[in-house]
Amino acid sequence: MTHISGSSRSQLLLLPERVDDYVGPNNTVRFIDAFVDDLDLKEAGFTRVQPKSTGRPGYDPADLLKLYIYGYLNRIRSSRKLEIEAHRNIEVIWLLRHLKPDFKTIADFRRDNRSCFKKVFREFVLICRKLDLFGRKLLAVDGTKIKAVNSKANNFTRVSLSKMIKEADERLDTYLKRLDEVDKDDVETNHCVNDGNLTDKIKGIKARQNQHKVLLEQLEETGESQVSLSDPDSRRMMGGSTGHRVSYNAQIAVDCKHNLIVEQEVTNHGSDLGLLAKTAGPARSVLGVEKIEVVADKGYYKIEDIEACENDNLIAYVSKPQRGSSVAAGYFSKEVFQFDEKGDFYICPAGQKLSTRYVSKLRDNTRLTYCNRAACKVCPLRSQCTNQRFRKVSRFENEAVLDRMAERLKKRPEMMNLRRCSVEHPFGSIKQWMNQGAFLTCRLENVRGEFSLTALAYNMRRAINLVGVKGLLAALET
Ligand code: SF4
Repeated sequence: MTHISGSSRSQLLLLPERVDDYVGPNNTVRFIDAFVDDLDLKEAGFTRVQPKSTGRPGYDPADLLKLYIYGYLNRIRSSRKLEIEAHRNIEVIWLLRHLKPDFKTIADFRRDNRSCFKKVFREFVLICRKLDLFGRKLLAVDGTKIKAVNSKANNFTRVSLSKMIKEADERLDTYLKRLDEVDKDDVETNHCVNDGNLTDKIKGIKARQNQHKVLLEQLEETGESQVSLSDPDSRRMMGGSTGHRVSYNAQIAVDCKHNLIVEQEVTNHGSDLGLLAKTAGPARSVLGVEKIEVVADKGYYKIEDIEACENDNLIAYVSKPQRGSSVAAGYFSKEVFQFDEKGDFYICPAGQKLSTRYVSKLRDNTRLTYCNRAACKVCPLRSQCTNQRFRKVSRFENEAVLDRMAERLKKRPEMMNLRRCSVEHPFGSIKQWMNQGAFLTCRLENVRGEFSLTALAYNMRRAINLVGVKGLLAALET
């Protein structure tokens, strides 16, 4: 008995196989090919769609776009790796018809057309809409921090720069004192000790300190809170379990029917506050509905944003965070104070009426503060309510918008579970399965292009799982 053996490599074939024979009818590359061929790349803004009449012919942007979509679908994002695949991967050889662009051509294409990838992503969303893959009833919005091409050591805040400048001064003082001591010893012993090492150290500290001073001045001039050296647009931000990292904040709006991404955007805001209406509004337009429900976590709880949602026909469900010094200290939370809209007063847990006493401004909002000094003075519950002489409860003039949302949430307690099940699926897939937890390019516009390709690849993989390559090809033909 022998092992199964292949045919000889030098065997001549009478009827040679075609490249097409290696690519099955349900292979993803068949859809990528048809999808890109169906796009109007000129309209989408791609460069070099029309070949020049003179000079050496360049690559068709359609071929390079196919290569990138294939790469992002198969965890191959680097231009050098894509070049290698063009030589050895039969699917890429089929897709590019034996073209073998070099890595620089591939990388330049992504850089030059970075703003066009979002349009390609949107075109695929429209195909999903045609296939009725969106429920168009509930959107879940969330953000994640994706690592930028910038280490923590190359990111500076005003506080860290001031601290480093001060530390450098202290170290310089110590070294200069040591130099003085060495000089004194030289005079006493009448021979010269060469302490070049110390002099070099002093030079190095001074050079770094000057660099830090320049950066601090730069921050004072621009009014920015931090500066990154490798990727100037990236920011140090809190990234959940990963702690502080220099990252970008990727926002997505997901339709809850099949967890497909409807809208995505990358920003360098450190938090999600204020990004709800900005993300969900365009998603509503793309889905072509007049009104839609939107659910998000407490990181999006901002009165201006919830108000913007109401104005844009977005019915928001955002859980309320427990903020404020009273809650942190374990005193009664604001929720136990009942607001009477008609009478414009609060009823406190002791049944006392708290009326308006102060009007102030916070950002662009008018803030009213309610209290009842006389009642608090003799209140038996005061030790549970405040450590001050009387308790103050604040309310924004337009806070009715938050009350309406709280009422909606009370009626639909399942909303937060729905949010978790839908919006965390794409991020989990992107970071774990697609291995795209870090950007490869620098600057905001470039990472936006990268993330559009990532979101497109996620949606494409998901749609293929749902309707298959044949289903997607059929949608292109209708
Ligand atoms: S301390 Fe003041 S606000 Fe608090 S329960 Fe007593 S009366 Fe009401």
